[in-house]
Amino acid sequence: MTTAENQLRREVIRTARALQSTGLTHGTSGNVSVRYNNGMLITPSGIPYEDLEMKKIVFMDLEGGYFGDFLPSSEWRMHMDIYRNYKDAEAVVHCHSARATALSTHNKGIPAFHYMVAVAGGDQIKCADYATFGTKALSKAMIDALEDRTACLLAHHGQIAFGPSLHKALGLAGEVEALADQYLSALVLGEPAPLCPAEMKEILRKFKSYGKQLDTLDGDDAGAFEMPQRRD
Ligand code: 13P
Ligand code: ZN
Repeated sequence: MTTAENQLRREVIRTARALQSTGLTHGTSGNVSVRYNNGMLITPSGIPYEDLEMKKIVFMDLEGGYFGDFLPSSEWRMHMDIYRNYKDAEAVVHCHSARATALSTHNKGIPAFHYMVAVAGGDQIKCADYATFGTKALSKAMIDALEDRTACLLAHHGQIAFGPSLHKALGLAGEVEALADQYLSALVLGEPAPLCPAEMKEILRKFKSYGKQLDTLDGDDAGAFEMPQRRD
């Protein structure tokens, strides 16, 4: 194993354990992967997070083949299909976080009740139709629900999120859970009015530059925000 591969195996374990320590998942539910060498490194199936070891992280190609002595997560196909469909995806996190899962049991996604739904790249976060865990049908439903966004809920199951790094994918899963929490709280007073499509379009434009600092901000980006005047 190369140093780079070892480093990624370590990061997969760290991310998987963070899922548990941050309360985003319980028991052996959830799984984590990172793109590596025309394939992916993915958590093994059904092994408690505290028992993970570098050698138990499974390398898979993107044709459904695995290497080594441990079976990959039963959700390998969802992870594989994300890497196959989204060239920018570098890491995937799936979990059964409480509030996202609660919404998913009503086949409900997260509408534009709050501008932050744009964090997943669209004007809502959809809920994929139900299919049995670990099936091709579930992966197909997930791909249909993602529609160029980076996260979706999975009916009667949980959520899945991906991003340009393990850190970012984990962070997005946390954002989805926070939005689900806020949305469920808001529902107590009835369905909140959604932000209109034009406003969400504007938010998505701002999100392209949000978080950039002076060294990476270009002219187009700067136009999305009212820029304060720099004093020297
Ligand atoms: P694995 O332990 O096989 O990764 O399965 C957990 C899970 O969340 C299935 O949907
Ligand atoms: Zn699951």
